[in-house]
Amino acid sequence: MATIPICITDLTGDQIRELAAELSEPVYRAAQLQSWIYRRLPLFIDDMPDLPQSFRQRLAMKVRLHSLVPAHEMIGDDGTVKVLFTLADGKTIESALMPYPAGRYRSRYTVCVSTQVGCPVGCPFCATGQQGFERNLTPGEIIDQVLYFARWLRDHSNQAGSASGQLASHITNLVFMGMGEPLANYNALWQAMEMLNSPDGFDLGARHMVISTAGLVPQIERLSREQLQVGLAVSLHASSNTLRNTLVPINKKYPLDEIMPACRRYCQATGRRISFEYILFDNLNDSTEDARSLARLVAGLNCHVNLIAANPTTNGSFRPPHRSIILTFEQELRRLRIACTLRQGKGLDIDSGCGQLRSRFLQPTAGQSSHGSLHHSTGRV
Ligand code: SAH
Ligand code: SF4
Repeated sequence: MATIPICITDLTGDQIRELAAELSEPVYRAAQLQSWIYRRLPLFIDDMPDLPQSFRQRLAMKVRLHSLVPAHEMIGDDGTVKVLFTLADGKTIESALMPYPAGRYRSRYTVCVSTQVGCPVGCPFCATGQQGFERNLTPGEIIDQVLYFARWLRDHSNQAGSASGQLASHITNLVFMGMGEPLANYNALWQAMEMLNSPDGFDLGARHMVISTAGLVPQIERLSREQLQVGLAVSLHASSNTLRNTLVPINKKYPLDEIMPACRRYCQATGRRISFEYILFDNLNDSTEDARSLARLVAGLNCHVNLIAANPTTNGSFRPPHRSIILTFEQELRRLRIACTLRQGKGLDIDSGCGQLRSRFLQPTAGQSSHGSLHHSTGRV
């Protein structure tokens, strides 16, 4: 049987109402259906027994319930769950669920969401960038990554530490830091975020969602004008155009002297703090002078710098610095009164860096050995 092309999560609230009207159902049926999809996370259309059977049958001819099939699932030693999904056209993407037990902050479950198959930016240190660009994800393919993990948590609530109160029992945060450049797929991303935020949808606060970008200036300007209070992280990795042109090639189109003013305008327009991501690469951008130059670049901005030790990929020229160099870099930023955090790597034993799991499946000979437990499932979720 041919696959039904439209997935229910590709539809906005208005489109779900139109669908109900088209199927001659009363208006309240659309609300009932939407509430099922985003709150009770059914696996099959027949798992919604209070929808009339004739409606369910007609619905099944119009829309699919899911756009992702989990192909491989791995659980890291730190509890990170990484899933490789197959899309309807056979392409693959990956997403991760990362647990943060209660400590200085309340416990969290963060989902790292992909927005594209591959990425057009092509950063040489990034596993996704090395795979090239294939296509944008649809809103439904973005949303379904989140719903998959919401269902995963519901079904694994005893194992996941939530029973002991150490961990949240549900998804608390989303970071659009998986495969792809989110702002290069703005419309689909935005439709997905509105539904994930909507009280009639997944109902997650906008402040609990962060978009990470390589620095697309027109889209940063557009984001400044949006009503939703989502967070923004800009991946800097270098404080000079010369180095950044090689690390983040889109810098040749939108250089630092355009990105930084756009970030300043974003902070002024929204009153929000901006984050900067800075991956530390051995002998490339990790000197004390690099720290001072970064501090000068972000001076005066309401910002927070996240330092990340490079996660080695198949491109061996990008390695993490020695721990002592990382700590010296962090101390120098702090001395210069730049708020910063050294971000802990998550799921390192299971290739949890952006695009790394997919890389392994695209190139079966590279890095075959895997740690962590491999859970295999093929069913449509
Ligand atoms: N395209 C967007 C969002 C996806 S990448 C962006 O670049 O911001 C999400 C984050 O993963 C970025 O900060 C990116 O630089 C980082 N990343 C990619 N490859 C990495 C690696 N090998 N080691 C550490 N961080 C990496
Ligand atoms: Fe794309 Fe981000 Fe990877 Fe660069 S780091 S290639 S922008 S996903």
